[in-house]
Amino acid sequence: MYCTDCGHQMQPTDQFCAQCGHRTASGAASSALPPPRHRLMRSMADKKIAGVCSGIARQYDWDVTLVRVAFLLGIVFHGVGLLVYFLAWITMPRDDMATSNLSYGA
Ligand SMILES: [Zn+2]
Repeated sequence: MYCTDCGHQMQPTDQFCAQCGHRTASGAASSALPPPRHRLMRSMADKKIAGVCSGIARQYDWDVTLVRVAFLLGIVFHGVGLLVYFLAWITMPRDDMATSNLSYGA
């Protein structure tokens, strides 16, 4: 078989082209490798306060609105959400490069 991208000859068991890194059909089907993950970072692209919620939502592929609601509930009912939020604010690095991704409902 040959790479559909660059034409490099590959073994049928190869999941990636050794020449250009293009993912083969078998590689895409097996999904043995997890998709590349973002680092847990505060998203500056679509933040409300400090980008903590959107950063967490992006990291775990959750709906950012649900994350915000969870934080708000934590603040209202326990006061813990506020503490967690500020700890995350302090510890999570900023991500200024990210562009807004509408796929998670921002
Ligand atoms: Zn290739």
